[in-house]
Amino acid sequence: MILILVPNTQPDSPEYKQLMCRLDALPGISTRVHKEMGAEQSLTEVYLIGNTKALSIEDVSGFPCVDRVVRVSEEYRVLGRHKDDDRPTYFTYNGVNFGQDTLNVFAGLCAVDTLEHVEMMMKALRENNQVCTRMGAYKPRTSPYAFQGHGKACLPYVFDLAGKYGIKVIAMEITHESHLEEIRNALFQTGNATGVMLQIGTRNTQNFELLKIVGRQQDFPVLIKRGFGITLDESLNAAEYLASEGNRKVIFGLRGMKTNMGDPHRNFVDFSHVPVVKRLTRMPVCIDPSHSVGTRAESPDGLLDIMQATAQGIIAGANMVLVDFHPAPSKALVDGPQALLMKELPHFLEDIQLVRETYEKRVALAQRYLEQSTLN
Ligand code: PEP
Ligand code: MN
Repeated sequence: MILILVPNTQPDSPEYKQLMCRLDALPGISTRVHKEMGAEQSLTEVYLIGNTKALSIEDVSGFPCVDRVVRVSEEYRVLGRHKDDDRPTYFTYNGVNFGQDTLNVFAGLCAVDTLEHVEMMMKALRENNQVCTRMGAYKPRTSPYAFQGHGKACLPYVFDLAGKYGIKVIAMEITHESHLEEIRNALFQTGNATGVMLQIGTRNTQNFELLKIVGRQQDFPVLIKRGFGITLDESLNAAEYLASEGNRKVIFGLRGMKTNMGDPHRNFVDFSHVPVVKRLTRMPVCIDPSHSVGTRAESPDGLLDIMQATAQGIIAGANMVLVDFHPAPSKALVDGPQALLMKELPHFLEDIQLVRETYEKRVALAQRYLEQSTLN
């Protein structure tokens, strides 16, 4: 059960103390308090953990500082969608809005290699009015002999260039807790020239200790990828680890599943699960067509499979696209064969726009039919 308190309820107020005193006296129930500082008001949610079945909504909704009560199912307590749950499905980070009804494109380098390539990418993004990108500094690689990313050495120039070209959010995978501090320090040294969305890669989806550490900080939002060989439920529980530790600025990423059934693509594209995740949870949903498809294969109609898969995710309501581009794919140190070319950026963005407009029209159409059927 979640008690959503009246905005700006102070912990030292008599109303709050009265409520907590009553909750403390409930046998077999403990509480966990989550506080969110918004621009205009503070919001407090009190989670009741334990056997709350015997507790009725009326028992707790009568307290003056309780605004609403939500009875949650066992699964995904914080991030899940529950009955009569009108908690928000969006957040803002560094001036960019993320939600279940927004769309942001993160086109960029899978792995940072040279300063020149980073600058070419950022410049192209600005020319195409983009404020988000992806830049890999810490790369989890299958082979220990493969390029592991430049790590903290590249952060100062990546962040400086992001500031120069108006990039507000960079998605960046971390694989170890020490990377968090390295990113924090580099951002500070560049005068917070940009913002970072931490990425938990598919190989670390169930690295619970990393999830707890990333969940305990609220400076950066987190993109967590679905584990490539586990169930959707297991991956959603992994996302819940982040939120249960305090960070709710979480985006869930679909990136394809590891199975030979998906051949000749690198992974089996799972973007039909976009609406499923939006129904089960309040998280915005990201699609990664590059790591799903993994090739620049093109069909006779002139469309790359990566663009087809992107459209499939967007038409299903995806909220974020994470996609590999590179100014010179043959020179890329990671995943060159799946990178789109700089000159393909305007086409890619226009295609996304087209499909997004169609998705919005489909939502309006569904709404119209729903209204008609309730009138009849
Ligand atoms: C990536 O986005 O660079 C990446 C390694 O993705 P994934 O974790 O989905 O393999
Ligand atoms: Mn990659």
